[in-house]
Formats: sequence, C-alpha cells, structure tokens
Amino acid sequence: MIRRAVLLVCVILLSAVPALGALQIDLPETVMNGRAFFVTVHSDSEFPVLLKWNEQEVPVEVSQTKHGYTGLALLALPRDFSKKTLAVTAIEENVVGTNTITRTVPVKHKKYREQHLKVNKKYVELSKKSLDRHYAEKANVRKVMENPLGNRMWDGKFIRPVSGSVSSEFGVQRFFNGKPRKPHSGVDLRGKTGTPIKAFASGVVRIAASHFFSGKVAYIDHGQGVVSIYCHMSKLLVHEGDRVKKGQVIGKVGATGRVTGPHLHFGVKIANVAVDPMPLFSAKN
Ligand SMILES: [Zn+2]
Repeated sequence: MIRRAVLLVCVILLSAVPALGALQIDLPETVMNGRAFFVTVHSDSEFPVLLKWNEQEVPVEVSQTKHGYTGLALLALPRDFSKKTLAVTAIEENVVGTNTITRTVPVKHKKYREQHLKVNKKYVELSKKSLDRHYAEKANVRKVMENPLGNRMWDGKFIRPVSGSVSSEFGVQRFFNGKPRKPHSGVDLRGKTGTPIKAFASGVVRIAASHFFSGKVAYIDHGQGVVSIYCHMSKLLVHEGDRVKKGQVIGKVGATGRVTGPHLHFGVKIANVAVDPMPLFSAKN
C-alpha cells in the first residue's frame, strides 16, 4: 500500500517535470580565444539557469516569452585558451529536480602580436613602496570582482567609450628588455586630455579610485559577469556605488598612472576573464 502510494506520488511529480529537452542553449557556430560571445538559454520555468564553461560560471536570469522562458548571457574565452572545442553546460534547478544540458562548440584560434621593447631599467623596476601599493590595490580589485552583481543591466548593445582610434590592441604580449609582461588586458584608445568618456553599458560603479598603474580608474559592474574598466583618467566623475546609464559621461581622458601620454585604456572582463572589447562595440544579438 505504502509502495503504491509512493509510486503514485512519483508519477504525479514526474508529470510536473518539464519535458525532456525543455532546457536549450543557443551557441554561436564558432568561438575565439580572447573574445566574448552571446549565448541564449531557453527553459520551461522561471528559475535562473547556471551556465558553466572552462571553469567559469554565471547565473542567467530568464524572463517569460511566448514559448517559455529565455535568458541572454555573455560568455568569453581567455586569450590563452588552446583547446579545439569548448563545452558549455546549462544547469537549471527547479522545484522537482535538476535539468542539465551540455553542448560543444569549435574554437578558432587567434594569434596575438608580440612587441619587443628596450626600456631604461628605471621605468621597469619598481620600489618596494610602489609594489606594496600595487599589491594592496590589486587585492581590493580582486575582492570586488569576486562578488559580482547578479542582475543583468546590459542589453547586448554596447557603446564605444571614446571615438578615438586604437593605439594598442588587446592581447599584445610586450617584452621589456626580453622579459615578458602580462599581455595587454584591454585596448588603448586615442583621445586628448579632457575628452569625455562614456559608460559602455548601464551598471553600478564598484571601484572609483586612484591606482598606481591605472591612475584614476573606474570599474563598472553591468551584472551577470560583465565588468568594464576605464584607466588613466584626468577626471573621475562618478563615485563607488553610483548607478550609471549606458552612455553617461563617467570621466575624462587623461594620463594618470604609469603612462607616457593621454589615452583611454579600456578593458572588459566577462566572469573575470579579460576579452577584446572591440568586437563588442558592434555586437548584435
Ligand atoms: Zn592599455
């Protein structure tokens, strides 16, 4: 009798489980190292879907459409990703259980440029005081980046923060006197001191500070793993905690920090991985 009751409950529960295959992910045909890419998730319930890929993850909010629920995500691969394919897994935990689906996509590999420079030692070697300051700033940035905002404030159409052309592209590996440095984590855009800088998307200012390397810097969290970074500003026009709208002027181009001339170093991170911002300015979804 008890067994039959249990069976009956099971049958009732099963009938409430969304049909197999209700969880879907739409991936691009190919993805590239150092680039971001859009993914759309489809499900039968209003629960967020967790996307996992390359040891990264992001929870995706879904909203109701004509045919169930849909959510938009921006994922990315690091510059040095070398595998031939990428697996993306979607996990949806609803009231009755867990739905999981994995899809793979081929990876195209881009080779990033190397740049060898001879520089005077005094510009490369830092004092202990400067290094300590840098490490403290880095630790603070890490703390903020480890607690990203969950709700998506971006809409998939991103603004180029200044119109100036590129003076140094993303991903360039610089060698100073033969020693490798960290690859360029963003793009340098030309601009005269005082040129207004626009927010790449709507979001919340998480860091507005003056850092040793970056000078006057702002980190804007756009939610669901997307963060934009603006460095070397002459003027910072926002404060930590401020909500900003896409296109809002957040600062002015300058030459603060460790730079030789005015420009905007602009970076984008997706789930804490730096990507080339340039393809995103014209990205459509
Ligand atoms: Zn730069």
